[in-house]
Amino acid sequence: MNSKAPLCQSLGAFFIGENMVTIVNKEPHSSVVKEVICRNCGATLSYVPMEVKEKTYKDYGGGSDTERWIDCPNCNNKQGVKR
Ligand SMILES: [Zn+2]
Repeated sequence: MNSKAPLCQSLGAFFIGENMVTIVNKEPHSSVVKEVICRNCGATLSYVPMEVKEKTYKDYGGGSDTERWIDCPNCNNKQGVKR
């Protein structure tokens, strides 16, 4: 009596049926990688949007201004970027 085979088959069907996002390549794609020259130390930095830090300031007129930057790993300078 073999009771294990049917269990394996049903598990396989379950995983195939899962609708999951598949990672094809974890390296950032060149279409999203950006480069900036650090104005403090001159290093060329490449970054992806996820690494951009931002802070929104509200001015007295009701408008707002968003500052975006990345931290230079070479000199810790806050390098402003446009995103
Ligand atoms: Zn720097």
